[in-house]
Amino acid sequence: MKRIGLIGGMSWESSSEYYRLINKKVKEQLGGLHSAECILYSVDFEEIEHYQQSGEWEKAGKRLGEAASSLEKAGADFIVICTNTMHKVIEAIQEKITIPVLHIADATAQELKKADIKTVGLLGTNYTMEQDFYKSRIEQNGIKVIVPTEDKRSKINEIVFDELCLGKVTDTSRTYFKETIEQLKTMDAEGVILGCTEIGLLIKPEDSILAVFDTTSIHANEAVNWSLNE
Ligand code: GLU
Repeated sequence: MKRIGLIGGMSWESSSEYYRLINKKVKEQLGGLHSAECILYSVDFEEIEHYQQSGEWEKAGKRLGEAASSLEKAGADFIVICTNTMHKVIEAIQEKITIPVLHIADATAQELKKADIKTVGLLGTNYTMEQDFYKSRIEQNGIKVIVPTEDKRSKINEIVFDELCLGKVTDTSRTYFKETIEQLKTMDAEGVILGCTEIGLLIKPEDSILAVFDTTSIHANEAVNWSLNE
């Protein structure tokens, strides 16, 4: 079994979900008392979120690159960055290490292709929904990515940072997400990417009128595939 190096803490609410899902899948695959070989480097999200807001992406990349390097030195065989947004600085992270990084958007695109999705809605932070680093990675696979209207994007972003990253899950916000997914459907989306690792804490497949692609569980599953099969 290859050892998974997790860069977490962004937020820890979703990192704990990664840890649970990865161990659950290893147990399902191997049975008995098997559990995952993994190392978690959890950062202080306050620091990273400050870099995001001030646009200091280089500093964020340097910080996460150091985390990745520590994981490599500790014996990780590959890296999983437990947030969609911070894949914006994946090159800076990869530069610091010789082991591969499992890109969350590649794992997600693979699932979208399996489901034959041609147009997909994307929910996440404003960085993920509005900038190109994530959407283009999905679109490289011949899949069109659409995002909600500006008013909805800013509310979704607010719910992510002011509620979900703080462990607050409310019915009001669930209703808001459901309505946003309905809007994506009217814009011709055939499925929806939960492109922020905390959204799965709020929205389950049964809450969505569209097929759900939860990046946390997709990424965690693919990490186990890499760990056990490759
Ligand atoms: N976990 C979130 C994501 O998947 C948001 C936190 C962050 O900005 O890293 O994008």
